Amino acid sequence: MNRPEMIRVEHEGVVFWTDPELAKDGVRIAFSERSGGVSAPPYDSLDLAAHVGDDPLLVDENRSRFLSGVGIAGLRDSLITAEQVHGDVITLVGTDDSGRGASASAGSGAAALRSPVPQTDGLVTKTPELPLMLFFADCVPVILAVTDPVPGVAVVHAGWRGVLSRIPEKAVHALIVATGAESSAVRAYIGPHIGSCCYKVATTLAATFNETFDTIAAVEDHLDLAVAVRASLMDAGVEGDRIAELGACTFDSADRFFSYRANDVTGRHGALAVITKD
Ligand SMILES: [Zn+2]
Repeated sequence: MNRPEMIRVEHEGVVFWTDPELAKDGVRIAFSERSGGVSAPPYDSLDLAAHVGDDPLLVDENRSRFLSGVGIAGLRDSLITAEQVHGDVITLVGTDDSGRGASASAGSGAAALRSPVPQTDGLVTKTPELPLMLFFADCVPVILAVTDPVPGVAVVHAGWRGVLSRIPEKAVHALIVATGAESSAVRAYIGPHIGSCCYKVATTLAATFNETFDTIAAVEDHLDLAVAVRASLMDAGVEGDRIAELGACTFDSADRFFSYRANDVTGRHGALAVITKD
């Protein structure tokens, strides 16, 4: 298997990062940028999240544009999202969960049954044609994929709390249990997040990261979450050369990505993964 690599793609006006080689194996992934949507400032323009104050109808249009750009417009109604709480819970979803949280404008009554998967920061599936999407503005998006013996994907929301409670590692285990894959066969993708250049934390927290992961994740009060994510993934058995990193700092590139630390009230970009065939 080749080392996973991501390329930047613009399709139908939407810009995202993906791995074309993985797509050939029946798994499509994408990290969105913020251009190509319909939301007005401060959510301009491809805001994908329902919970940050944007107009839900515009968010739904943005989600449709993103999925269409990625080439899965036909799976729009099957989209699954989650209520992210900076925890470490991973939820395995299947056919019965199809469409949960697909619509940002879903209200009460029958539509409430289609609300996002509650209290979950990681979604896992081995069911084809169920797109999983989580939302980000500085936190680390992580996508995991396997193709053997059966395809499987995981999408993970990893802020500092989640990383410290080893949510990347827990997601690898959940994916392995679901699919029967070897951990060494897992391909991992670390998306756009705030870089250590712009991420200052309390020195005690920085020290805790270095102790927890037995690596240099923090230098003084600058924390590199990707280093800790990588360590957590490798503790779960993922090979270092099967981890791809996008490498952009959301704070520095707040024109291309949403950054909570840069803008406070802002939108969310997305991490999306879907099995396109058996
Ligand atoms: Zn930076």
